[in-house]
Amino acid sequence: MPHLPTPPPGRARPVRLAALLLVLLALAAAACGRPGSPPVKGPRAGDLPAYPVARGFSLPASPTWRAAERRGRLVVGGKEDQPYLGERDPATGVRRGFDIEIAKMMAAALGFPARAVDFVTIASANRETALQNGQIDLYVGSYTINAKRKQQVGFAGPYYMAGQSLLVRRDEHGIHGPQDLAGKRVCSAAGSTPYQRIQADFPQVVLVAYDTYSACVDNLLTYQVDAVTTDDAILLGYAAKAPDQLKVVGRPFSKEPYGIGVPRSDNALRFALDDALAADERNGAWRKAYQATLGVSGMPPPSPPPIDRYPAT
Ligand code: GLU
Repeated sequence: MPHLPTPPPGRARPVRLAALLLVLLALAAAACGRPGSPPVKGPRAGDLPAYPVARGFSLPASPTWRAAERRGRLVVGGKEDQPYLGERDPATGVRRGFDIEIAKMMAAALGFPARAVDFVTIASANRETALQNGQIDLYVGSYTINAKRKQQVGFAGPYYMAGQSLLVRRDEHGIHGPQDLAGKRVCSAAGSTPYQRIQADFPQVVLVAYDTYSACVDNLLTYQVDAVTTDDAILLGYAAKAPDQLKVVGRPFSKEPYGIGVPRSDNALRFALDDALAADERNGAWRKAYQATLGVSGMPPPSPPPIDRYPAT
């Protein structure tokens, strides 16, 4: 019988987070079938939903869509090291996760089949620049909508609600929430909202920044830092991959609504994506995408947050 990881010490935690944790732990347990079995790779290709590609779709009011149409490819920025959200298999180049599914769903609504989508990995700190300089058409990668970022880019959605949390080593017993971090070394991604929140609200924390959360997790495992902070959806994925070494502690201490980043002035594209999301939430595609990724063990999906269709800028 494989060793089954025990969940982190049970402190009061919202049901949604507890449910997600159970899903991820179940995944990890399934992957521990025998010694040396490969890490969880996510759902098999056949389990992923296919999204019908809109035929004859046209969005002439969107300069981004027109350029993509001319080139015959839609270029989508995202992450490649966030288990169950946006993960790239280095051997095959195949990307998987909820964000990848959302990206494919949106591409299909804009008339692009999955084979016409080029994914580009863009770190948290470089998202606004990549959208502003035309390097990417859209960004789908745990991208929190907030007022400051809205001055630089547009956001369709949100399509998911995450919350900032903490990842520590299993042998750590002194950290239960951000109030325990004074004097501790805490790692997050440069340019991320969790990094900015710790910097603003917990000035006694010794912050360490890397481009990626996987670099932070490596530093945590080698005792270079005491905790990693970012969204629960991201941290639970890392904990599920190394349940004997890592745990998520405390309860989420922020709201991180995930949006689809678009160039700021492209209101037509933003509204088209809001419409597409609303349709995919109604027709069950969103639900299937969730079930095939974050909810692969069969846990019921949460209800998606209401779409914020803010006026043209
Ligand atoms: N959602 C947060 C953000 O957009 C953290 C995750 C990330 O860095 O992608 O900054």
